[in-house]
Amino acid sequence: MEITEKILDGKQLAALFHRAIQNRVDKLSAEKGRPPGLAVILVGDNPASRAYVKTKGKVAKKCGFKTFDYNFPAGVSQQELLSAIHECNRTDEVDGILLQLPLPEGLNSEEALSAINPSKDADGLHPLNQGLLMRGKPPVYPCTPFGVMKLIDLAFSGVALAPELDPLELKEADLSGKHAVIVGRSILVGKPQIFLLLEHNATVSIAHSRTANLKELCSKADILIAAAGVPGLIGAEHIKQGAVVIDVGINRLEDGTLTGDVDFESAYLKASKITPVPGGVGPMTVAMLMHNTLSLWERRVSS
Ligand code: NDP
Repeated sequence: MEITEKILDGKQLAALFHRAIQNRVDKLSAEKGRPPGLAVILVGDNPASRAYVKTKGKVAKKCGFKTFDYNFPAGVSQQELLSAIHECNRTDEVDGILLQLPLPEGLNSEEALSAINPSKDADGLHPLNQGLLMRGKPPVYPCTPFGVMKLIDLAFSGVALAPELDPLELKEADLSGKHAVIVGRSILVGKPQIFLLLEHNATVSIAHSRTANLKELCSKADILIAAAGVPGLIGAEHIKQGAVVIDVGINRLEDGTLTGDVDFESAYLKASKITPVPGGVGPMTVAMLMHNTLSLWERRVSS
């Protein structure tokens, strides 16, 4: 795909985050005595989860982190999984813990996520941190909605996505007067997205499978975030001329290709900015995992 100014290139923005994080780690780890540590827990052999964990481990190393890998077979007991989480909680060198979801059937992910020490919650999915998000004060943000906000910050910044950009210094967009519509109300994406958008002063609507007149609602959005997991759900008719369109969806078609929730070709013609799939929100989710781990490390080593 040709990268034009209209395309919000998550892959490139993520690469700039990795570089900026690595620079910060290089600068601080000698002073602090150790680099950030990220524990990655994978259960079972779901190919998509394996691929995500591999990427996350690779990027973590690129950022200068020490990684701690825990790989369990699908048949692991809840107790063994909880023991591994408790071990990570106790290990001083571990600053962030990532439990790759979904867990195989029979395991209780709510209990496992709640067992993570909230101050090591690299994914921002601990119930305490999700509650603090509502009050505008979490130590970390859930990675996917956080990545979406960074893309929105870039879209409204007027700043070019150039190699000299330090994304850690990117100013938060002030979305006063803007109407943002989120399609999808999951705990992973849609719900936390509401609070992040509110913190940026947007007026927020959220749609889901029971929403009437999806098209009418979406077509009023200055910022449209599609996170439904339905290929092609959002077409040009859902998009207001000049809207910023963020496609969170990652759907694998029968022929193996990956596609988003937005019909990219037609949406591109109406959007002012739009994320591609792949190469949009996906890489930003990984970059925000690194960002969160960096923040947790900085808090721990300076406290
Ligand atoms: P969920 O299945 O948990 O939630 C989907 C949401 O979309 C639900 O709230 C559902 O409504 C709503 N929905 C489904 N169909 C429609 C419809 N026809 N019209 C309006 N709303 C609809 O999915 P996730 O939030 O976990 O993921 C959503 C998508 O984002 C998936 O494609 C997933 O792969 C992708 N994803 C991408 C990430 C990334 O890094 N890029 C990270 C996480 C997810 P209801 O609640 O009523 O059922």
